[in-house]
Amino acid sequence: MSVNCFWFRRDLRLADNKGLEAALRSGGEVLPVFIFDTTILKKLRDKSDRRVWFIYQALVSLDAQLKSWGSGLLVEYGEPEAVWKKIVQQYRPEAVYTNRDYEPYARERDERVGKWLASKGIAFHDFKDQVILEPSEVLKDNGTPYTVFTPYKKRWLSAFSKSMLAPAQSDKPEGPWYSGDIPELMPYSRLGFSPPQDQDFPERKIPLKIIERYDQTRDFPAVAGTSRLSVHLRFGTLSIRKAVEMALRLNDTWLSELIWREFYMMILWHFPRVVGHAFRPEYDRIAWRNSEADFKAWCEGRTGYPIVDAGMRELARTGFMHNRVRMITASFLTKHLLIDWRWGEAWFAEKLLDFDLSANNGGWQWSAGCGCDAAPYFRVFSPDAQTAKFDAKAEYIRKWVPEWGTAAYPPPIVDHALARKRAIEVYQAALKNE
Ligand code: FAD
Repeated sequence: MSVNCFWFRRDLRLADNKGLEAALRSGGEVLPVFIFDTTILKKLRDKSDRRVWFIYQALVSLDAQLKSWGSGLLVEYGEPEAVWKKIVQQYRPEAVYTNRDYEPYARERDERVGKWLASKGIAFHDFKDQVILEPSEVLKDNGTPYTVFTPYKKRWLSAFSKSMLAPAQSDKPEGPWYSGDIPELMPYSRLGFSPPQDQDFPERKIPLKIIERYDQTRDFPAVAGTSRLSVHLRFGTLSIRKAVEMALRLNDTWLSELIWREFYMMILWHFPRVVGHAFRPEYDRIAWRNSEADFKAWCEGRTGYPIVDAGMRELARTGFMHNRVRMITASFLTKHLLIDWRWGEAWFAEKLLDFDLSANNGGWQWSAGCGCDAAPYFRVFSPDAQTAKFDAKAEYIRKWVPEWGTAAYPPPIVDHALARKRAIEVYQAALKNE
């Protein structure tokens, strides 16, 4: 029987996986493949990076499931093109199936790999799986991309149809799976990483009770009021179709958040220059103060603003930060401390378990005021007012900053009123030169 490969990337699940379904329908035996891409791994500074561990755990469970069906997962380590050369030599696939990934690096990688495979007469088939609507499917009447969320969402909803939620194959796809020898999954240490300490990953289940009340609870960081599914949507351990189906049934506000996810993916696709540049170029003229000492205090949760410090400590300890607090900490860094948003973006990129280039970049540019559809530059969040509104009893603060209110807690690194005035002046000066 002929062999076709299915290449897992941001879709680490067997159930409801569009590219995998197509591979299974192709007629040949399906050899499932995952590649630990050294181009990505070598950029990670933290050798107990949470994301690598999360991926490894997901692979362990995929492999176990596939083994119970008489097959297994081929896990390779290296530069993707070189790895494919090896796989092609060893297994002689007729075609490679995969799901589309919309990030700039992934696009370039897939083009390279696809071309090389084609040169060997091997087809490269890619599918829509990670999103409900791709960047090219939600455009204005004149064919250009949206840059403002509300009209984008309106168009998204009119382009959407329930048939898009039809799941791929059953939860237990029967194969035919590759039945030859597959080497054992490499031990984790072979990747050059060690497991992070005390790492609990959020549950993969959609928390129905939370979603039902999401619009009322989502802004309060002390409450379990959001889904915590971001890491699963990031790595595809949960299907976006399942999430959207639940959102339609249970809560419109939650649906909006899932549409924001696709909005920022669409922005990155159409405007890849947002990586490294302000969406609005005039904001690249801002005279950032960029104090290394202030940045360090922010990273370590020692700014003397308890809501900011709580968020930064939650991030360092768990790899997660509540959305409301992401906005507060990002606004504080860019406006109160006048530190370049790219510094904060890079810090989050290193620490967040759910790190996603498009959502992180979008969130940072929104907070700094320089993004598409961003908060106006003169809106400077007051950490105290935000606390009064969203953590009035200081429950979240006390959880992460136990020494708050004692002599051990540092005084504010900067005065709020002065910082606010300074931020508006500096932004104004940059924008005046237009
Ligand atoms: P829920 O509130 O339950 O939302 C459901 C899902 O919708 C999320 O899991 C996520 O996939 C998506 N979503 C929600 N809000 C947004 C948003 N604003 N933009 C895009 N998608 C959204 N989200 C990431 O997934 N990765 C990031 O790297 C990331 N960086 C951010 C940086 C900043 C500065 C800000 C302000 C926001 C960032 N977000 C990021 C968006 C948001 O904070 C997280 O998606 C959310 O906190 C994850 O928690 P949850 O799964 O409980 O989300």
